[in-house]
Amino acid sequence: MYKTIIQQFVRQNNYPKLQLKGVFFDMDGVLLDSMGKHVASWIQSMQDYNIPFTAKEAYLYEGQPGSITISKAYQRTFGKKPTVEVIEKLYNLKCDYIKKMDPIGPMKHADKLLQQIKNQGLETYLVTGSGQPSIIDMLDIYFPDTFQPDHKVTALNNIKGKPAPDPYLRALSIAGIKPWEAVVIENAPLGVESAVAAGIFTIAINTGPLASSILSERGAHIVLDGGMTELNNKWEEISAHLIS
Ligand code: MG
Repeated sequence: MYKTIIQQFVRQNNYPKLQLKGVFFDMDGVLLDSMGKHVASWIQSMQDYNIPFTAKEAYLYEGQPGSITISKAYQRTFGKKPTVEVIEKLYNLKCDYIKKMDPIGPMKHADKLLQQIKNQGLETYLVTGSGQPSIIDMLDIYFPDTFQPDHKVTALNNIKGKPAPDPYLRALSIAGIKPWEAVVIENAPLGVESAVAAGIFTIAINTGPLASSILSERGAHIVLDGGMTELNNKWEEISAHLIS
């Protein structure tokens, strides 16, 4: 089944073939079990500004820069754009709330998957819309020697955020590889959109409450309902067709 999906992807994009060299990882909900805390801190900080905000929205907006999430919710509530100061204050408040919560843990089986990938001699890259150093730095604690400093694309890089293709295009550029030499692991609809727009084969793992069909609709080439555990179990089978 995976072989056919991959062949179809290669044909549709007029690529020579898929020859995997680098794996691009999203962070929240893929490597870190952080989404519950992001959702709670978004709801709390928005509430302080009298902005109604639901968990579902937090998952739908996942991956895009925090400033955009704030602008959309503010505009919808008050019918006008927030000032730069309001955006900054609300974002800092959100970050403060999450810092006060229990520490964020790694996603179950992410370490095993990363080990498999390293054993295959493939390079690993981080491509996240997050701009919170306190969270990004946890990757080096949970997955030491995995994401080199020059292998990280974050919101701190000052480029257009997901769902624009820019973060994944930047990753291709720093890796010095072509779209057919990479694969993306994503969990969020906007992240999938970004990866697909960059022309990269995208595996979506559903690790939240949204329907998996949303991930397929945004263009994910493979969608796994069983999250990171299922991807870890199936990586050998899937990657066999990506490396050949
Ligand atoms: Mg994510």
